[in-house]
Amino acid sequence: MKKFSFLILFLFLGFQSVNSQTDDGRASDSKLIEVSKGIYLYQNRGGNIGISIGVDGIFMIDDQYEEITEDLLKDLKKLSKDEVDFVINTHHHGDHTGGNANMVKEGATIISHSNVRKRLQDYLAENSSVKIDERILPTLTFKNDITFHYNREEIHVLHIEKAHTDGDVIVHFKGSNVVHTGDAFVNGQYPFIDSRNGGSVQGYIDGIETILSTIDKDTKVIPGHGNIANYQDVRAMGSLLSNAWKRVAYHFLKGKSEQEILRMTDITKEYDDKGFGDGYITRERFLKSIYDEVAVAYDQRDYYDRKDQIEKIKKDQDGGK
Ligand SMILES: [Zn+2]
Repeated sequence: MKKFSFLILFLFLGFQSVNSQTDDGRASDSKLIEVSKGIYLYQNRGGNIGISIGVDGIFMIDDQYEEITEDLLKDLKKLSKDEVDFVINTHHHGDHTGGNANMVKEGATIISHSNVRKRLQDYLAENSSVKIDERILPTLTFKNDITFHYNREEIHVLHIEKAHTDGDVIVHFKGSNVVHTGDAFVNGQYPFIDSRNGGSVQGYIDGIETILSTIDKDTKVIPGHGNIANYQDVRAMGSLLSNAWKRVAYHFLKGKSEQEILRMTDITKEYDDKGFGDGYITRERFLKSIYDEVAVAYDQRDYYDRKDQIEKIKKDQDGGK
């Protein structure tokens, strides 16, 4: 009875904060938020987890760290007796895939873009002296997209090329109008462009366009990190990136050095004021990732070509205002 009324209370509130102690003694602050009927956002210590619960069972997007699985499963038990059938990895980073082996032990199948499996295989090879459970590797991989027909809706998983990494996917719950973007979009913070793992600023900008063409004004957007967002938030991220790119390119072509550009606080002031640089990616780190790519994109041009480029960027900037 007690259990039953708790469940009712839980469903009624549609939101639950659970404070518990993790194995390493640190307090964990897990949060489960109902985004849409049957779709939840689970937050704890890593990237945002998306969860669909329905007639077929549980479908999950990402699984954070190995240490949080126990907490997560406890929270899931409050919502459903079913087990997790599928876990999609939005990319290979440990704060999104760290729980893979645990989830396989629980009976789930891990699915990802083929590059995610490759990156995780490299990770296993590089750390061969440490015993890492090989079950972190996804069982099913795909190249462009894959569709699930599960919990009475179409769930479309689409690859975003070379954005945050080279294995990014977004997950679109078409019936519920919810999208989980992985780290191809983060809310309220500068994005991490992991160029060592195939990410790129231009790819990120293109990825934002793809997300915008997938969603509409009513879509609930679960970002890779940060709070639930909407169309406007995704669009704002696109503007942030393309404006920063233009400004960095402009100063680069004017002959400013890397250090001079990184010190130009006006480039990102609007977002710094909103706290975008307070997290994992500082404003310097964000600008540096843009600078590095700009330097490659424009480095080979001669002076006259540069002059044309400067004029073009100036025009774009004025036109964009
Ligand atoms: Zn990531």
